Amino acid sequence: MYLKALEIQGFKSFPEKTRLTFEKEITAIVGPNGSGKSNISDAILWVMGEQRSRALRGGKMEDVIFGGTEKRSPMGFAQVSLILDNSAGLFELDAPEIVITRRYYRSGESEYYLNRESVRLRDVTELLMDTGLGRDGYSVIGQGRISEIVSARSTDRREIFEEAAGIARYRRRKEDAERKLERTDENLVRINDKIDELEMQVNPLREQAETAKRYLILRDEQRTLEISVWMETLDLLQTQAEAVSADYEQAKSGLEQAERELNEVYAASERCTEKMRECDVEAESLRAQCSQEETLAAEAESAMAVLRANIKHNQESIARLEEEINEQSGRAESIKAQIGEHGARLEQIDEEKSRCERDIAAA
Ligand code: ATP
Repeated sequence: MYLKALEIQGFKSFPEKTRLTFEKEITAIVGPNGSGKSNISDAILWVMGEQRSRALRGGKMEDVIFGGTEKRSPMGFAQVSLILDNSAGLFELDAPEIVITRRYYRSGESEYYLNRESVRLRDVTELLMDTGLGRDGYSVIGQGRISEIVSARSTDRREIFEEAAGIARYRRRKEDAERKLERTDENLVRINDKIDELEMQVNPLREQAETAKRYLILRDEQRTLEISVWMETLDLLQTQAEAVSADYEQAKSGLEQAERELNEVYAASERCTEKMRECDVEAESLRAQCSQEETLAAEAESAMAVLRANIKHNQESIARLEEEINEQSGRAESIKAQIGEHGARLEQIDEEKSRCERDIAAA
């Protein structure tokens, strides 16, 4: 198997996206203590699905995300991609190259991708099974791991050797097959119980089958009868349809006649309307003439009232004048008498005057 490259971003001491490419020969990574060499092997373990934070030399899974430095703030997620060569078809995937990616967020969400398609952790584990890779594989042996293997229990060590020998897959398949076999046995017992139960139901079912057969015969008979009824109904309906169609034709010609008559009535009504319109015009002019005459009559009436008032007034004036004349003629008599008195007085005065003149002349 050929590990082509490793891409790390936000994982432990690698905040920047870092790509490590491996040649076909041996690759050695050297550097001072604490420079991040083990972090690279941790990244390889982690991307293959390692869940134990202790195996990644941390307290909790969040510790794999770059925690920040004095100059750089922490990252929100860690991502690692492992690029493997598959030109020999080692993996059961139809692609020349396998890219396994794992992304982890501070919220605790984990995502896995196989050749950039989202998958489950189980898919990654199954893909790597018996390849020597995988989180439990022997391919990544960190500091202190050798002594761990040596002091491990024989069953744990056996698993490591089985994985290395490529028989773990078959052992797991065998376990699966045994589990399936057990389930099948249980199912067989259940099916036998079911068969016993069904056998008890056979007799009633036979009776039901007889009834069903009878039902089918009767149903066919009913269908035949229904068809004859339908045929008869059809004949009847056809006769009725012909009668209705004759009625319809008659009604249609009646309708046409009625429409013609209606048109004539419309024309007569039009003529009447025209005549009415002329009568209205004439009535209108007569009404105007009438109102003119009425105005003239009202004017004449008021002139007559004025004249009547004048006559009455004149008659009253005449009566008053006659009264005055009568009065004046009485007064004329007295004036005449006064005139006579005044004439006598005047003669008296004249005599006195003459006497006085004579006295004066004498004086
Ligand atoms: P040695 O040679 O001593 O084994 P090493 O080169 O293998 O050292 P690592 O153990 O890979 O070094 O790296 C340790 C460094 O990684 C430490 O400086 C530590 O601060 C840093 N580191 C680990 N986890 C994180 C993290 N989450 N965020 C930032 N830095 C981290």
